[in-house]
Amino acid sequence: MSYLTFLECALCSKQYNADTVQTLCPECKRPLLARYDLEAAKKNWDRDCLSTREPNMWRYREVLPVRDESKAIKLGEGFTPLLSAQRLGDSLGMQNLYIKDEGVNPTGSFKARGLSMAISRAYELGIKEVVVPSAGNAAGAMSAYAARVGLKAHVFMPVDVPLPFQQECRALGANVTLIDGLITDCGHEAKKLGDEHGWFAVSTLKEPYRIEGKKTMGYEIAEQRNWKLPDVIIYPTGGGTGLIGMWKAFDELEQLGWIDSHRPRMVSVQAEGCAPIPRAFEAGDEFAEPWQNAATVAAGLRVPAAVGDFLMLRALRESNGIGVSVSDDQLVNAQMRMSSLEGTFACPEGGATLAALENLLATGWIKPEEEVVLFNTGTGLKYPAVFDLLND
Ligand SMILES: *Cc1c(COP(=O)(O)O)cnc(C)c1O
Repeated sequence: MSYLTFLECALCSKQYNADTVQTLCPECKRPLLARYDLEAAKKNWDRDCLSTREPNMWRYREVLPVRDESKAIKLGEGFTPLLSAQRLGDSLGMQNLYIKDEGVNPTGSFKARGLSMAISRAYELGIKEVVVPSAGNAAGAMSAYAARVGLKAHVFMPVDVPLPFQQECRALGANVTLIDGLITDCGHEAKKLGDEHGWFAVSTLKEPYRIEGKKTMGYEIAEQRNWKLPDVIIYPTGGGTGLIGMWKAFDELEQLGWIDSHRPRMVSVQAEGCAPIPRAFEAGDEFAEPWQNAATVAAGLRVPAAVGDFLMLRALRESNGIGVSVSDDQLVNAQMRMSSLEGTFACPEGGATLAALENLLATGWIKPEEEVVLFNTGTGLKYPAVFDLLND
C-alpha cells in the first residue's frame, strides 16, 4: 500500500489534496511535492522484505503515489545496474568508481521512471489524454506508458529533434506535431492546444509525480550499496527532476531509519552552451536566470529555464556539492571513452558526467580514493549526430 498523505508546495509549504488532479501550486506557481506518512511506514515496513520483490522501481511502492496496484503501468522500469567501472576507474587512478546505467530502461532512458509514475497516477485519477513538449526522451517514454493502457498521447517536438526520437513516438502511437522553433515554443503550443482540448500536461515538475518516479534512483543506490551512500554523485541536469528526486529520497530514507545522516556531495553538470544552474550556483543566487540561445548536442541538458531551479540549487548547497559545465567537445569524447571502456553505449549526457569527473579530479575537488557514482542517463543509440563532433 501507499503511505501518500498530501501534496506540499516546495516554496510556500501550502498543502493540497493528493487525490485530485493537481499541477503547480496555484499561489506561487512552483512544484508540489508528494508527502507520505513516514512514521507509519517506518513501523510497518522493513527494508529486508525488499529482497522478495520484483526488480523494478515499484518495489518501493509504500513511498510511491499510486494507491491501486492495478493502475501501476509497468514495462520493467528501474532497478538498473550499478556497474563497477573498473577499466574507466583504472584509467583515472580510481578504485571506487560506479556507473548507474539508466540506458537499459524501457524506451532507453531514465525518463521511463518519471513517465511510468506520472502516467500511472494520471490514469488512476481518470485522465484520458496526455500531452508533453519534449526535445527527446520524455516524449518516447510518455508515448510508451500511454500506449500500454490506451491513453491518447500528444507530443510537440522541435523540427530539429533527431529522427529516432520522432520515429519512436510515432511507432508508439502518439500524435506527433513538429514545431519550427525551440522547446519553449513547443511548450506554448502544447499548453494552448492542451487547454483547448482538456489534455493533461506532464511537463517536468509541473505535475507532482514524475519526480516520485525519478526519486527511486536514490532508493536504488542506497539499496545496491547496502544502505551506505557514496561520497559523490554526478548528475547531468536538465529540469533537475532526478537530482531533486534523489535528494528527497535520501531524506525519506533517513526518516524511515534505513540510512544515517551521511549524504553524497551532489554535482550538477550542464553543457557550456546551456548552463543556468552552474552559473546561478557560482553567483550564490536562489533562482537561476533563463539561459539565452541554449545550444548543445546533449538534448536532455538543453533546458534554459527550470521551474525547480531553486530546489536544485538548494540540494547542491545543502550537500556541499557544486555545479560545473563542460563543452560539447568534452562531453562527446567522454561519451566514447565511457562506452569503449565499460561496454555500455552511453548517451552524450552520460558522457558529460565523466567529463565533469575529470575536471573535478584535476582541481582536487574529488579525491581519487572517493566513492563516485556517474549517471549514464540513457542509451547512445538515438543521437547519430554526435559522431560529426568527434575528433579522432
Ligand atoms: C531528460 C534527460 C536528462 C536530464 O534529466 P533531468 O532529471 O530532467 O534533469 C539527462 N539525460 C537524458 C538522457 C535525458 O533524457
